[in-house]
Amino acid sequence: MMSKETKAWAATSPQKIEASTITRRAPDDQDVAINIKFAGICHSDIHTVRSEWKEVEYPLVVGHEIAGIVSAVGKNVTKFKVGDRVGVGCMVNSCRECDNCKDGEEQYCADMVGTYNAKDPKDGTITQGGYSQYVVVDQAFVLNIPENLPLDKAAPLLCAGITVFSPLNHWKAGPGKRVGVIGLGGLGHVGVKIAKALGAEVTVFSQTDSKKELAMQFGADAYIATGDPKAFDGLDRKFDIILNTVSAKIPLDKYLSSLRRDGSLVQVGAPSDPLQITPFSLLPQRIGIHGTLIGGIAETQKMLDFCAKKQIFPEIEVVSASYINEAYDRVVKSQVKFRFVIDVSTIIGFVY
Ligand code: NAP
Ligand code: ZN
Ligand code: ZN
Repeated sequence: MMSKETKAWAATSPQKIEASTITRRAPDDQDVAINIKFAGICHSDIHTVRSEWKEVEYPLVVGHEIAGIVSAVGKNVTKFKVGDRVGVGCMVNSCRECDNCKDGEEQYCADMVGTYNAKDPKDGTITQGGYSQYVVVDQAFVLNIPENLPLDKAAPLLCAGITVFSPLNHWKAGPGKRVGVIGLGGLGHVGVKIAKALGAEVTVFSQTDSKKELAMQFGADAYIATGDPKAFDGLDRKFDIILNTVSAKIPLDKYLSSLRRDGSLVQVGAPSDPLQITPFSLLPQRIGIHGTLIGGIAETQKMLDFCAKKQIFPEIEVVSASYINEAYDRVVKSQVKFRFVIDVSTIIGFVY
Protein backbone atom coordinates (compact mmCIF):
# COMPACT_ATOMS: atom_id res chain seq x y z
CA MET A 1 0.00 0.00 0.00
CA MET A 2 1.16 3.52 -0.77
CA SER A 3 0.84 6.80 1.07
CA LYS A 4 -2.29 8.63 0.04
CA GLU A 5 -3.40 12.18 -0.44
CA THR A 6 -6.56 13.02 1.42
CA LYS A 7 -8.71 16.10 1.47
CA ALA A 8 -8.96 17.83 4.80
CA TRP A 9 -9.84 21.12 6.45
CA ALA A 10 -6.75 22.63 8.03
CA ALA A 11 -6.17 25.58 10.32
CA THR A 12 -3.94 27.97 8.40
CA SER A 13 -3.98 30.66 11.12
CA PRO A 14 -5.61 31.00 14.57
CA GLN A 15 -8.76 32.37 12.95
CA LYS A 16 -9.07 30.35 9.76
CA ILE A 17 -9.78 26.75 8.86
CA GLU A 18 -9.89 26.02 5.15
CA ALA A 19 -9.91 23.26 2.57
CA SER A 20 -6.53 21.64 2.00
CA THR A 21 -4.87 18.37 1.10
CA ILE A 22 -2.65 16.26 3.36
CA THR A 23 -0.76 12.99 2.93
CA ARG A 24 -1.40 9.92 5.08
CA ARG A 25 1.31 7.30 5.41
CA ALA A 26 0.79 3.84 3.91
CA PRO A 27 -0.59 1.52 6.60
CA ASP A 28 2.18 -0.59 8.15
CA ASP A 29 1.59 -4.17 9.36
CA GLN A 30 -0.18 -2.98 12.53
CA ASP A 31 -2.14 -0.11 11.01
CA VAL A 32 -5.79 0.33 10.20
CA ALA A 33 -6.83 2.74 7.43
CA ILE A 34 -10.14 4.43 8.18
CA ASN A 35 -12.54 6.17 5.85
CA ILE A 36 -13.78 8.90 8.20
CA LYS A 37 -17.52 9.55 8.18
CA PHE A 38 -17.94 11.99 11.09
CA ALA A 39 -15.65 14.18 13.18
CA GLY A 40 -16.78 16.02 16.31
CA ILE A 41 -15.70 19.57 17.13
CA CYS A 42 -14.21 19.60 20.65
CA HIS A 43 -13.37 22.84 22.45
CA SER A 44 -9.80 21.47 22.67
CA ASP A 45 -9.65 21.77 18.86
CA ILE A 46 -10.45 25.46 19.29
CA HIS A 47 -7.91 26.02 22.10
CA THR A 48 -5.32 24.36 19.84
CA VAL A 49 -6.16 26.13 16.59
CA ARG A 50 -6.23 29.50 18.32
CA SER A 51 -2.80 28.77 19.87
CA GLU A 52 -4.28 29.27 23.34
CA TRP A 53 -2.26 26.41 24.87
CA LYS A 54 0.96 26.85 22.92
CA GLU A 55 2.08 28.26 19.59
CA VAL A 56 0.92 25.97 16.84
CA GLU A 57 2.66 25.47 13.51
CA TYR A 58 0.18 25.99 10.72
CA PRO A 59 -1.24 24.39 8.69
CA LEU A 60 -2.69 21.87 11.15
CA VAL A 61 -5.66 19.55 10.79
CA VAL A 62 -7.39 19.05 14.16
CA GLY A 63 -10.23 16.72 15.21
CA HIS A 64 -10.00 13.87 17.73
CA GLU A 65 -13.57 12.63 17.80
CA ILE A 66 -13.38 10.36 14.77
CA ALA A 67 -15.91 7.78 13.58
CA GLY A 68 -15.67 5.85 10.32
CA ILE A 69 -15.32 2.57 8.47
CA VAL A 70 -12.19 0.47 8.08
CA SER A 71 -11.00 0.63 4.46
CA ALA A 72 -7.75 -1.37 4.68
CA VAL A 73 -5.72 -3.25 7.30
CA GLY A 74 -2.03 -4.13 7.66
CA LYS A 75 -1.08 -7.79 7.53
CA ASN A 76 -0.76 -8.26 11.31
CA VAL A 77 -4.02 -6.56 12.17
CA THR A 78 -6.22 -8.96 14.12
CA LYS A 79 -8.62 -6.60 15.89
CA PHE A 80 -10.34 -5.20 12.77
CA LYS A 81 -11.32 -6.04 9.21
CA VAL A 82 -12.41 -3.99 6.22
CA GLY A 83 -15.96 -2.69 6.71
CA ASP A 84 -15.83 -2.53 10.53
CA ARG A 85 -17.32 0.52 12.27
CA VAL A 86 -14.54 2.14 14.26
CA GLY A 87 -13.51 5.20 16.21
CA VAL A 88 -10.34 7.08 17.11
CA GLY A 89 -10.08 9.48 20.02
CA CYS A 90 -7.34 11.76 21.30
CA MET A 91 -4.38 9.34 21.14
CA VAL A 92 -2.82 7.34 18.32
CA ASN A 93 0.14 5.75 20.11
CA SER A 94 2.11 5.41 23.37
CA CYS A 95 5.23 3.52 24.55
CA ARG A 96 3.22 0.44 25.67
CA GLU A 97 5.91 -0.46 28.24
CA CYS A 98 5.73 2.05 31.09
CA ASP A 99 3.61 1.56 34.21
CA ASN A 100 0.89 3.86 32.86
CA CYS A 101 0.64 1.89 29.62
CA LYS A 102 0.68 -1.44 31.47
CA ASP A 103 -2.11 -0.16 33.72
CA GLY A 104 -4.22 0.75 30.68
CA GLU A 105 -3.74 4.49 31.38
CA GLU A 106 -1.97 5.24 28.10
CA GLN A 107 -3.15 8.84 28.26
CA TYR A 108 -0.62 9.44 31.05
CA CYS A 109 2.31 7.83 29.19
CA ALA A 110 5.20 10.27 28.77
CA ASP A 111 5.38 9.17 25.13
CA MET A 112 1.65 9.35 24.39
CA VAL A 113 1.11 10.55 20.82
CA GLY A 114 -1.83 12.88 20.31
CA THR A 115 -4.11 12.44 17.31
CA TYR A 116 -3.01 15.86 16.08
CA ASN A 117 -0.14 18.26 16.66
CA ALA A 118 2.22 15.55 17.99
CA LYS A 119 5.30 13.92 16.53
CA ASP A 120 4.37 10.56 15.05
CA PRO A 121 7.08 8.02 15.96
CA LYS A 122 6.07 5.89 12.97
CA ASP A 123 7.14 8.39 10.32
CA GLY A 124 8.43 11.49 12.10
CA THR A 125 5.68 13.75 10.77
CA ILE A 126 3.30 15.90 12.83
CA THR A 127 0.04 14.03 13.38
CA GLN A 128 -3.02 15.45 11.62
CA GLY A 129 -6.52 14.96 12.99
CA GLY A 130 -9.96 13.94 11.93
CA TYR A 131 -11.30 16.85 9.86
CA SER A 132 -10.29 14.73 6.87
CA GLN A 133 -11.50 11.91 4.68
CA TYR A 134 -9.04 9.30 5.74
CA VAL A 135 -6.67 8.41 8.60
CA VAL A 136 -4.15 5.66 9.34
CA VAL A 137 -3.87 4.53 12.97
CA ASP A 138 -2.22 1.63 14.80
CA GLN A 139 -4.83 -1.01 15.66
CA ALA A 140 -4.04 -0.70 19.39
CA PHE A 141 -5.55 2.82 19.36
CA VAL A 142 -8.64 2.07 17.28
CA LEU A 143 -11.98 1.45 19.02
CA ASN A 144 -14.89 -0.69 18.00
CA ILE A 145 -18.18 1.21 17.62
CA PRO A 146 -21.06 -1.11 18.52
CA GLU A 147 -23.76 -1.62 15.87
CA ASN A 148 -26.50 0.12 17.85
CA LEU A 149 -24.49 3.33 18.25
CA PRO A 150 -24.98 5.59 15.19
CA LEU A 151 -21.62 6.79 13.82
CA ASP A 152 -22.49 10.51 13.96
CA LYS A 153 -23.51 10.30 17.61
CA ALA A 154 -20.60 7.99 18.46
CA ALA A 155 -18.02 10.54 17.31
CA PRO A 156 -18.28 12.91 20.32
CA LEU A 157 -18.03 9.99 22.71
CA LEU A 158 -14.41 9.44 21.59
CA CYS A 159 -13.32 12.54 23.51
CA ALA A 160 -16.24 14.17 25.34
CA GLY A 161 -17.67 10.79 26.39
CA ILE A 162 -14.50 9.22 27.77
CA THR A 163 -13.38 12.48 29.42
CA VAL A 164 -16.45 12.45 31.68
CA PHE A 165 -16.88 8.65 31.96
CA SER A 166 -13.37 8.15 33.32
CA PRO A 167 -13.53 10.56 36.30
CA LEU A 168 -17.14 9.65 37.12
CA ASN A 169 -15.99 6.05 37.52
CA HIS A 170 -12.66 6.86 39.15
CA TRP A 171 -14.35 9.01 41.83
CA LYS A 172 -17.18 6.47 42.09
CA ALA A 173 -20.29 8.32 40.95
CA GLY A 174 -23.20 5.98 41.59
CA PRO A 175 -26.27 5.43 43.75
CA GLY A 176 -26.24 7.58 46.88
CA LYS A 177 -23.65 9.99 45.42
CA ARG A 178 -24.36 13.59 44.54
CA VAL A 179 -22.61 14.88 41.45
CA GLY A 180 -22.42 18.49 40.25
CA VAL A 181 -21.55 19.24 36.63
CA ILE A 182 -20.33 22.77 35.85
CA GLY A 183 -20.95 23.84 32.23
CA LEU A 184 -23.60 22.23 30.04
CA GLY A 185 -21.53 22.07 26.85
CA GLY A 186 -20.19 19.13 24.85
CA LEU A 187 -18.55 17.41 27.80
CA GLY A 188 -21.03 18.58 30.42
CA HIS A 189 -24.19 17.29 28.77
CA VAL A 190 -22.69 13.83 28.22
CA GLY A 191 -21.48 13.98 31.84
CA VAL A 192 -25.06 14.52 33.04
CA LYS A 193 -26.34 11.57 31.01
CA ILE A 194 -23.56 9.22 32.10
CA ALA A 195 -23.69 10.24 35.78
CA LYS A 196 -27.45 9.58 35.74
CA ALA A 197 -26.95 6.21 34.05
CA LEU A 198 -24.45 5.33 36.79
CA GLY A 199 -27.18 6.05 39.35
CA ALA A 200 -25.96 9.34 40.85
CA GLU A 201 -28.07 12.38 41.74
CA VAL A 202 -27.02 15.14 39.34
CA THR A 203 -27.07 18.93 39.60
CA VAL A 204 -26.18 21.12 36.62
CA PHE A 205 -24.47 24.49 37.02
CA SER A 206 -24.96 26.61 33.92
CA GLN A 207 -24.47 30.35 33.41
CA THR A 208 -28.12 31.14 32.66
CA ASP A 209 -31.55 29.55 32.79
CA SER A 210 -31.58 28.96 29.04
CA LYS A 211 -30.55 25.30 29.12
CA LYS A 212 -32.73 24.29 32.09
CA GLU A 213 -35.45 22.43 30.23
CA LEU A 214 -32.95 20.43 28.21
CA ALA A 215 -30.84 19.62 31.27
CA MET A 216 -33.91 18.19 33.00
CA GLN A 217 -34.67 16.15 29.86
CA PHE A 218 -31.15 14.71 30.06
CA GLY A 219 -32.02 13.50 33.56
CA ALA A 220 -30.64 16.25 35.80
CA ASP A 221 -32.26 16.31 39.26
CA ALA A 222 -31.54 20.00 39.80
CA TYR A 223 -30.38 22.99 37.79
CA ILE A 224 -28.62 26.08 39.04
CA ALA A 225 -28.13 29.23 36.99
CA THR A 226 -24.85 30.55 38.37
CA GLY A 227 -25.58 34.12 37.26
CA ASP A 228 -28.24 34.29 40.00
CA PRO A 229 -26.74 35.97 43.11
CA LYS A 230 -28.52 33.39 45.30
CA ALA A 231 -27.24 30.45 43.20
CA PHE A 232 -25.23 28.87 46.01
CA ASP A 233 -27.73 29.35 48.83
CA GLY A 234 -28.46 26.03 50.51
CA LEU A 235 -25.67 24.16 48.74
CA ASP A 236 -23.24 23.94 51.66
CA ARG A 237 -21.59 20.50 51.87
CA LYS A 238 -23.99 18.90 49.43
CA PHE A 239 -21.85 17.24 46.72
CA ASP A 240 -19.47 14.28 46.64
CA ILE A 241 -18.03 15.08 43.23
CA ILE A 242 -18.08 18.24 41.12
CA LEU A 243 -16.90 17.98 37.53
CA ASN A 244 -15.72 21.30 36.14
CA THR A 245 -16.05 21.16 32.35
CA VAL A 246 -15.88 24.92 31.79
CA SER A 247 -13.53 26.05 29.01
CA ALA A 248 -12.83 29.40 30.69
CA LYS A 249 -11.44 30.52 34.05
CA ILE A 250 -14.18 30.70 36.69
CA PRO A 251 -14.07 31.33 40.47
CA LEU A 252 -14.03 27.96 42.27
CA ASP A 253 -14.33 28.74 45.98
CA LYS A 254 -18.13 28.49 46.11
CA TYR A 255 -18.02 25.10 44.41
CA LEU A 256 -15.37 23.89 46.86
CA SER A 257 -17.56 24.98 49.79
CA SER A 258 -20.42 22.97 48.37
CA LEU A 259 -18.43 19.72 48.59
CA ARG A 260 -18.85 17.32 51.50
CA ARG A 261 -15.97 16.00 53.63
CA ASP A 262 -13.45 14.29 51.33
CA GLY A 263 -15.33 15.57 48.30
CA SER A 264 -13.53 16.09 45.00
CA LEU A 265 -13.53 18.90 42.53
CA VAL A 266 -12.44 17.30 39.28
CA GLN A 267 -11.07 19.69 36.71
CA VAL A 268 -11.49 18.60 33.09
CA GLY A 269 -11.93 22.01 31.46
CA ALA A 270 -8.60 23.30 30.19
CA PRO A 271 -8.48 27.10 30.02
CA SER A 272 -4.93 28.39 29.74
CA ASP A 273 -5.39 30.93 32.56
CA PRO A 274 -4.35 29.87 36.07
CA LEU A 275 -7.23 28.97 38.38
CA GLN A 276 -7.43 30.72 41.72
CA ILE A 277 -8.55 29.08 44.96
CA THR A 278 -8.55 30.08 48.62
CA PRO A 279 -6.87 27.45 50.84
CA PHE A 280 -9.66 27.79 53.41
CA SER A 281 -12.07 26.40 50.83
CA LEU A 282 -10.12 23.14 51.02
CA LEU A 283 -8.90 22.73 54.59
CA PRO A 284 -12.01 22.41 56.74
CA GLN A 285 -13.43 19.35 54.95
CA ARG A 286 -10.30 17.70 53.46
CA ILE A 287 -11.43 18.71 49.98
CA GLY A 288 -9.43 17.51 46.99
CA ILE A 289 -8.84 19.15 43.63
CA HIS A 290 -7.90 16.78 40.83
CA GLY A 291 -7.27 16.94 37.12
CA THR A 292 -7.96 14.20 34.64
CA LEU A 293 -7.13 13.61 30.99
CA ILE A 294 -9.48 11.62 28.71
CA GLY A 295 -9.23 7.90 29.62
CA GLY A 296 -7.34 4.75 28.60
CA ILE A 297 -8.06 2.69 25.50
CA ALA A 298 -9.70 -0.26 27.30
CA GLU A 299 -11.74 2.21 29.34
CA THR A 300 -12.79 4.04 26.15
CA GLN A 301 -14.06 0.76 24.72
CA LYS A 302 -15.91 0.11 27.97
CA MET A 303 -17.50 3.57 27.70
CA LEU A 304 -18.62 2.97 24.09
CA ASP A 305 -20.13 -0.39 25.06
CA PHE A 306 -21.83 1.21 28.08
CA CYS A 307 -23.32 4.05 26.00
CA ALA A 308 -24.49 1.57 23.34
CA LYS A 309 -26.10 -0.68 25.96
CA LYS A 310 -27.79 2.20 27.79
CA GLN A 311 -28.51 4.07 24.54
CA ILE A 312 -26.78 7.22 25.80
CA PHE A 313 -26.23 9.55 22.88
CA PRO A 314 -24.72 13.03 22.71
CA GLU A 315 -27.02 15.74 21.31
CA ILE A 316 -25.45 16.75 18.01
CA GLU A 317 -25.79 19.29 15.24
CA VAL A 318 -24.33 17.82 12.04
CA VAL A 319 -22.67 20.46 9.87
CA SER A 320 -20.74 20.61 6.63
CA ALA A 321 -17.03 21.36 6.56
CA SER A 322 -17.61 24.84 5.17
CA TYR A 323 -19.39 25.70 8.44
CA ILE A 324 -16.40 24.93 10.73
CA ASN A 325 -15.30 28.54 11.26
CA GLU A 326 -18.81 29.65 12.18
CA ALA A 327 -19.22 26.57 14.37
CA TYR A 328 -16.08 27.54 16.32
CA ASP A 329 -17.47 31.02 16.99
CA ARG A 330 -20.72 29.52 18.21
CA VAL A 331 -18.95 27.03 20.52
CA VAL A 332 -16.95 29.85 22.09
CA LYS A 333 -20.22 31.72 22.75
CA SER A 334 -21.79 28.55 24.28
CA GLN A 335 -24.32 28.57 21.45
CA VAL A 336 -24.31 24.91 20.45
CA LYS A 337 -26.75 22.26 21.55
CA PHE A 338 -24.54 20.44 22.36
CA ARG A 339 -21.85 19.20 19.98
CA PHE A 340 -21.08 20.06 16.38
CA VAL A 341 -20.21 17.05 14.27
CA ILE A 342 -18.73 17.49 10.80
CA ASP A 343 -20.26 15.34 8.07
CA VAL A 344 -17.01 14.32 6.41
CA SER A 345 -18.76 13.51 3.13
CA THR A 346 -18.95 17.29 2.67
CA ILE A 347 -15.15 17.37 2.49
CA ILE A 348 -15.26 15.09 -0.56
CA GLY A 349 -16.34 16.93 -3.66
CA PHE A 350 -14.97 20.28 -2.62
CA VAL A 351 -13.51 22.00 -5.66
CA TYR A 352 -9.85 22.89 -5.17
P1 NAP B 1 -17.94 23.50 25.29
O1 NAP B 1 -18.86 22.63 24.52
O2 NAP B 1 -17.62 24.85 24.78
O3 NAP B 1 -18.53 23.59 26.78
C1 NAP B 1 -17.99 24.44 27.75
C2 NAP B 1 -19.11 25.01 28.61
O4 NAP B 1 -18.54 25.81 29.61
C3 NAP B 1 -20.07 25.94 27.86
O5 NAP B 1 -21.09 25.26 27.20
C4 NAP B 1 -20.60 26.80 28.99
O6 NAP B 1 -21.65 26.09 29.66
C5 NAP B 1 -19.42 26.88 29.94
N1 NAP B 1 -18.70 28.15 29.80
C6 NAP B 1 -18.03 28.60 28.72
N2 NAP B 1 -17.47 29.80 28.96
C7 NAP B 1 -17.80 30.12 30.24
C8 NAP B 1 -17.50 31.24 31.09
N3 NAP B 1 -16.77 32.28 30.66
N4 NAP B 1 -18.01 31.21 32.35
C9 NAP B 1 -18.73 30.18 32.79
N5 NAP B 1 -19.04 29.10 32.03
C10 NAP B 1 -18.58 29.08 30.77
O7 NAP B 1 -16.52 22.79 25.48
P2 NAP B 1 -16.19 21.21 25.62
O8 NAP B 1 -15.83 20.68 24.29
O9 NAP B 1 -17.21 20.56 26.45
O10 NAP B 1 -14.81 21.31 26.43
C11 NAP B 1 -14.80 21.90 27.71
C12 NAP B 1 -13.38 22.05 28.21
O11 NAP B 1 -12.82 20.77 28.48
C13 NAP B 1 -12.42 22.72 27.22
O12 NAP B 1 -11.54 23.56 27.93
C14 NAP B 1 -11.66 21.54 26.63
O13 NAP B 1 -10.38 21.88 26.14
C15 NAP B 1 -11.56 20.65 27.84
N6 NAP B 1 -11.34 19.23 27.55
C16 NAP B 1 -10.56 18.55 28.41
C17 NAP B 1 -10.37 17.20 28.24
C18 NAP B 1 -9.57 16.42 29.22
O14 NAP B 1 -9.11 15.33 28.89
N7 NAP B 1 -9.38 16.91 30.43
C19 NAP B 1 -10.98 16.55 27.15
C20 NAP B 1 -11.80 17.29 26.30
C21 NAP B 1 -11.98 18.63 26.51
P3 NAP B 1 -23.04 26.83 30.07
O15 NAP B 1 -23.57 27.45 28.82
O16 NAP B 1 -23.86 25.69 30.57
O17 NAP B 1 -22.70 27.82 31.13
ZN1 ZN C 1 -11.48 16.74 22.89
ZN1 ZN D 1 3.92 4.31 28.18
